[in-house]
Amino acid sequence: MTRIRVMDEQLANQIAAGEVVERPASVVKELVENAVDAGSTTIDVSIEEGGLTLMKVTDNGGGISREDMETAFLRHATSKIATSSDLFRIASLGFRGEALSSIAAVSRLECVSADSDTGLARRLRIEGGVITADEPVNAPIGTSMSVSDLFYNTPARLKYMKSIPTELGHISDYMNRIALAHPGIAITLEHNGNVLLRTTGTGDRLQVIAAVYGRNTAKAMLKTEASDSDYTLTGYVSKPELTRANRNGITAIVNGRYIRSHSINGALLQAYHTLLPINRYPLAVLEIGMHPSLLDVNVHPSKMEVRFSKEVELRALLEKAVKEALHAQRYTPGMDTGR
Ligand code: ADP
Ligand code: MG
Repeated sequence: MTRIRVMDEQLANQIAAGEVVERPASVVKELVENAVDAGSTTIDVSIEEGGLTLMKVTDNGGGISREDMETAFLRHATSKIATSSDLFRIASLGFRGEALSSIAAVSRLECVSADSDTGLARRLRIEGGVITADEPVNAPIGTSMSVSDLFYNTPARLKYMKSIPTELGHISDYMNRIALAHPGIAITLEHNGNVLLRTTGTGDRLQVIAAVYGRNTAKAMLKTEASDSDYTLTGYVSKPELTRANRNGITAIVNGRYIRSHSINGALLQAYHTLLPINRYPLAVLEIGMHPSLLDVNVHPSKMEVRFSKEVELRALLEKAVKEALHAQRYTPGMDTGR
């Protein structure tokens, strides 16, 4: 008697969704990262009720061809990597081919996309992983993904959703970070019709800092830059007078990806050393570029953690650069900053 069988695609996708789609902000993250990977210069995100009822991401990127659209929603389907060696030189934000199939398995999704090669658009509706509508349409080049009723068919997960403000907070935080990471993309975030974030896409990161944190904060930032044979670092760090009660004001960006890194945080704090009051943290936006082979992003499905192959060197470069930025303004650790 055989009792073991391979689960069907729909069930497998629902299980994978448990890892990839934790909450509305995970959907926004995956859709926006796809928009970035598609080479978009504008990305508009519109949310209703903290994302619990609707999340819509519209981009003007390269689009999905009519022929590819169904495949895009299959698990492990990706245009971004093809061979295992590609895994060691990832230049895109996505590569796991899991997001669309996972999101579509636990929501009602509509995808409208026209690719830049043909200009031909197709609209696909998928509910709980099942295609319910499919037709050719007219649409501008780019992609629009609408996700409604997230977790409608996974009540256990739905039960864990927090309040609208909490879910919106996570979405807003992510949008701020991706905007800081990509000053060259014009990004908007709207919630229930109110604009919460708008960047212009000029490429000026200080303008994005002003849009996210306000003009006064932007004025209190110091530019920092450095490079060695492996890494380039550019960014802004706050004058020691401008501090926060936690590390949330630190945005680390590695090859265009917002990540969380104890290592980067540690090196940054080390550079300030005694300039910071106890239990206070600087604001910083640090972009670090490196050859993709020096970086392992395949650590966790959310891709928020990475591994650096030359971590010690990176930390040293960062610490030195930030110290120099502070020093140039006559801030020296151990000095009384008059606070
Ligand atoms: P991954 O991003 O890891 O490749 P996804 O499931 O997120 O996997 O997306 C599957 C594929 O669908 C992508 O590889 C890409 O080819 C296509 N795609 C998804 N979103 C977009 C978009 N906004 N614009 C263009 N292509 C997209
Ligand atoms: Mg993706």
